[in-house]
Order: sequence, then structure tokens, then C-alpha cells
Amino acid sequence: MFERNDVVIFLRVVQGCNINCSHCFTLGNQDQVLTTPMEYVVKFLEAIKNNVDPQRGVIYLHGGETFLAPMSYLKEVTAFTRKNYGAAFSIIPQTNLIYTIDEEYLDFIRNHCDGHVGVSWDAKIRFGSIKSEHAVRQEQLFFKNFKLLIAAGIKVHVNITVQKHLFEYSPQQIADMFEGANSIDFEHLSVFNEKTKAIRPNLKRWAQWLDGLTNIYENQNVSWCLPQIDMFVKSLENGITYQCKCNCCDRRTFTLNPNGSTGFCPDNSYIDPSSHVDVAHADWALFERKAHEAFIARLATLNTENCFACEHYNECGGNCEDTLFDDSGECPLSKMTIARIKEHKDKFIKLLHERSEQNLLEFTKGKS
Ligand code: SF4
Ligand code: SF4
Repeated sequence: MFERNDVVIFLRVVQGCNINCSHCFTLGNQDQVLTTPMEYVVKFLEAIKNNVDPQRGVIYLHGGETFLAPMSYLKEVTAFTRKNYGAAFSIIPQTNLIYTIDEEYLDFIRNHCDGHVGVSWDAKIRFGSIKSEHAVRQEQLFFKNFKLLIAAGIKVHVNITVQKHLFEYSPQQIADMFEGANSIDFEHLSVFNEKTKAIRPNLKRWAQWLDGLTNIYENQNVSWCLPQIDMFVKSLENGITYQCKCNCCDRRTFTLNPNGSTGFCPDNSYIDPSSHVDVAHADWALFERKAHEAFIARLATLNTENCFACEHYNECGGNCEDTLFDDSGECPLSKMTIARIKEHKDKFIKLLHERSEQNLLEFTKGKS
């Protein structure tokens, strides 16, 4: 049932983090910092290679905070990955960027990964009260490092969670803050406890906000692209519905957790893993059956009722989970933005082609 192209593998190589974001599945800095045993990494990558034989894709090094791991360990992981998966797979570390960057770090990203780094930034939910001196210093450190990476020629992909504090920044502020980045991508908030419930965004507000940022993307000569928008434009251009990254997780995405548990979608895998790396290695048929069950279960969560009635259904495919909707009349993908793209289709197609080399690697490597 698994696809062989555009495979995405999340290796959570570190348990524990140096900060504690409100929306995080992990215990953040309240957890022990441990690296994932190399034996698990080897078994997981071998199992996928032997049973799926993926042809191209991306391997993300993830955490917790990836760079809490010793550099020697990270190099061992990348060396094994490179040897077994070759150049058709890119290796990209994901990080919160809250630490000191040195030459060894830059060399690691340039020469042991693919010169790209995924950076998470979130508005006012990373350091407790944003007004505290500590929070201000951490935020300054983040932007100092962001600029340093850009100056060093590293390709930076920014990842932002859609949550209510994001709207305290205007789209223009975000556009200016991340000038120099290759892409800005948005991830929908998973609501799984009281803390995440408290930061749920109003979707009408989100739609207006995203439309504001898309307007900047359309009309200002910014450095970054918006993968979420580009994916939709590609659908329009090719007349094919490319479903969102999430909707195909259980068919082409694999996640390993530090304790050896595994899953498909990285979000679900943390709190609700479907299997273990030992099973993947010893009994692939059983591992695959779990993927099939997850895929079927997910289909039942899609908000088909709203989507079937939507004017954009034919181009969009309506692949958002029910839990992401609210009663505002908008949707997580933003009908307002989709209407803008349809109205200015030629302009967006031109942008898609101009920016094609700088997009997320899982986007540029596949779906052609
Ligand atoms: S930086 Fe990432 S891993 Fe660390 S607490 Fe925040 S969301 Fe969780
Ligand atoms: S635009 Fe939103 S409501 Fe319309 S089909 Fe897509 S996901 Fe569903």
C-alpha cells in the first residue's frame, strides 16, 4: 500500500527539548534529553528500504530538539542514511534555533545534510510570557541565528503553527521578519489537551491573515515562497488534485520515536504510535496492516459534508480533518485564499515556476 516516491521519513533522534512550547506533544524541557538508540535508527531505515524500496524523498532529523544530540551521533545517523538511501534522498534537520551556532554546525548542515534546515518559530507560545526578559533574549537569539544561517548560504524553511497568537503579528511583520528564508509553511494546530484548546485559532481570522500574506507573496518581490499555496496552484495548473501533505501520511510517511515506537503521520505517532521498530523489522506485513487501518480510520475523520458543498471542492479535494474546522464558515485551507489564487491564476503559476527551485524538497523532488 505504500508509495515509493516522495517518501518522507521522520527520525526523531532526540527526546527532550531546551524549550517548552504550549502546542507541543512532547514534554519539552521537562523531559530527559536522550538520543534514539542507533540500533533503532538502523532497523527502521533498513525495514523501509527492504520492504518499500523508496526511490526518492526526504528524511527529517527531528526531536525534541535535534541539536541537543552530540554532533558525532548526528553524523553517524546521516552517514548511515546516505549509505543506504543515496543521493535521491535529502536529509534535513529540523530545529528551534535556540542555541549557539558554530562552524561545526554549519559544516554539518552543508556537508552531512543537504544545505537545507527546517526552522520552527511560533508566536508567543515558546517561552512562556513574551514580556519576560528571558523570552526577549531567546527571541533575539533565534533571529540572530536565522540571519547567520542566511548569511552562511544555508537554505532556511520556516515552519509556523496556526494558533491564535500568530494574529498578533500582521502578515507584513511576518513577511519582513522572515525575509531571506526559502519558504514559509504553516502547520495546523492539533488540539489534544487544555493548553492547545486555549490557543485554537478562529478560522475566519486565519483566512484573512493568510490572504494578507498571500497578497504579499503575490505582489511584493519576497525571498520566500508559500508551499501550501504553491501546492494548490500546482493542482490548478496540472488539473490534478494534489492532496495536502497530511492526507497522504499513512501511505508515504514513516515516523520513528526515540523509544522505538513508530507510526505514520508524525503528529499522531507521538501520542498514539501504531507499532514498534522491532515489528517493522521482523514482521512487515503486520506493520503494513496497521498503516492500512490508520488510513481507513483517517478517511472517516474528513469533513466531507462541508467540503462537498464547497465551490472549491473540485480543485481542492477537501482533505481536511473534521477536528480542524470550526463554526466560522471558513475552512483550514482558507476558501478566501483559494478564491484569490483562482482569480489570479496566471500570476500564481508564474510565481510557482519562478520559485520552483527553492521550495520544500519534498515538494520540488516530486509531484511532477
Ligand atoms: S521546539 Fe519543538 S520539540 Fe521543542 S517544545 Fe517546541 S514544539 Fe516541542
Ligand atoms: S476549500 Fe476548504 S471547505 Fe472547500 S473543499 Fe477545500 S478544504 Fe473543503
